[in-house]
Amino acid sequence: MQKMWIGGRWVGSSSRKSFAIDNPATEEILDEVPRANGKDADLAVEAAAEAFRDWRGVPGIERAALMHDFASRLRAKARAVARQLTLEGGKPLIENLDEVEWCAACFDYYGELARDQGGKVISPVFRHQVNFVRKEPYGVVVAIVPWNYPLLLLTWKLAPALAAGNSVVIKPSNETPLSTLMLAEDLAIFGKGVVNILTGFGTEVGDPLVVHPDVALIAFTGSIATGKAIAAAAAPHLKKLNLELGGNDPFIVCDDVDLDVAARGAAWAAFLNMGQVCTSGERFYIFESVFDEFVKKFVAVTRKLRLGNPLGPDIDCGPLIREAHRKQIEATIEEATSQGARVLCGGRRPPQLRKGFFFEPTVLVGVTQKMSIMRSETFGPIAPLVPVKGIEEAVRLADDSSYGLGANIFTNNLEHAMYAMENIHAGTFWINDPLTDNDAGPFGGMRMSGMGRELGIEGLDAFREPKHVHMDYRIEAKPYWYPYRWNSIKKDD
Ligand code: NAD
Repeated sequence: MQKMWIGGRWVGSSSRKSFAIDNPATEEILDEVPRANGKDADLAVEAAAEAFRDWRGVPGIERAALMHDFASRLRAKARAVARQLTLEGGKPLIENLDEVEWCAACFDYYGELARDQGGKVISPVFRHQVNFVRKEPYGVVVAIVPWNYPLLLLTWKLAPALAAGNSVVIKPSNETPLSTLMLAEDLAIFGKGVVNILTGFGTEVGDPLVVHPDVALIAFTGSIATGKAIAAAAAPHLKKLNLELGGNDPFIVCDDVDLDVAARGAAWAAFLNMGQVCTSGERFYIFESVFDEFVKKFVAVTRKLRLGNPLGPDIDCGPLIREAHRKQIEATIEEATSQGARVLCGGRRPPQLRKGFFFEPTVLVGVTQKMSIMRSETFGPIAPLVPVKGIEEAVRLADDSSYGLGANIFTNNLEHAMYAMENIHAGTFWINDPLTDNDAGPFGGMRMSGMGRELGIEGLDAFREPKHVHMDYRIEAKPYWYPYRWNSIKKDD
């Protein structure tokens, strides 16, 4: 039985209730964690608010040293943390080793970025005036995190929030809190109460955190439905919000590329982490002149994907996160096939894997833009392939969406690439290079895929607010103060 981390101490829930965390690859119970409620939320926010008073004043160079120290600790226990991520989340170990390293690198990046600049000096309006902008932390930040990249999506909030001088209350997903709890004692280096971790469910502890009067900002990654619920709950309190929400990313393949390479890139974009990536390729628009050949190659790559226990070697894909999600994927495919779509491969539970929430990567054709599979995020291993006449049709269909998280194109034709880039709403646009991230550049969604950005300087500014300071270093009465000199106005004015 695990405990939560509040004010630098391990504590149980005030309700004394707990819940089980299972392994999606084996369906075995891994551990129990406390089921936090509003009272626990109060305690965590109180601890964070108390810690903020000191933490906000810690000089940037000291903060950076602590962030580098934390990154080293993370690297030192990378294998154990990656194993825990695999056990609770089902991603292959090889992907989780990457995830841990990306987190460490992100802490290094923000430690230095925040140390480098804390605002700017601007040109004054008058002589003797000094104008500068100080970027200040908000105070207590709540980080609400999903299960698909439990530590990476936490880090994209935690690292810039700490670098900016905020204290933080973390609410990991109720599916994957164990890897976050593993880091609690390493996070203690930032000071008692600077980082707190509450385990529990969205409505029971997430909601009380969102509406808590001492919480200044909510940084959330998750579904659009939860994002809307959080925005509605936060609105009466005018809370600051960063929302990273769902996507339904288009993927265009033009007729001028090496189709073997495009098929491999497209399969990786579709099936990485069983399609449980916010920027998974979810809709594939292929030039009709190469459609049949591409489909053949794409299906061949997909058939070769090796499913199995994500801890084991020589596998490419693990399970889905839970049984309910698997059922939802099955229902989505059933709806599409009932409307005329055809399954070319996959579309079923792998018969050789009886335990665990496994599902075969699935390729569909005969899909139309009107089907809900093309209009809503599936968040699963389904790749619908659609032929298009050329770049205009591809771009029109790709942009025909209420989402705007990411978009992909495979082409060597510069004009096609730029035309697509300019005309598709997407926070990230990938040309021949699907799903890469770069800590130094912003990540986030247009349209309903989100508000605000993570990563880059934008992701640091999301956790600090500007204060414009006006100062005159010579005290003297200003000519524009009272009494007004009416005789200075020209007669005809
Ligand atoms: P989710 O919305 O169900 O849950 C996300 C988090 O919100 C969890 O910690 C959950 O406990 C909490 N929560 C739920 N209800 C809440 C409430 N009323 N108040 C406060 N907190 C609440 O999402 P999920 O199933 O964990 O993750 C999958 C979704 O996340 C997909 O839609 C995916 O696209 C999205 N996602 C987006 C990004 C991005 O960066 N844009 C990245 C990864 C995942």
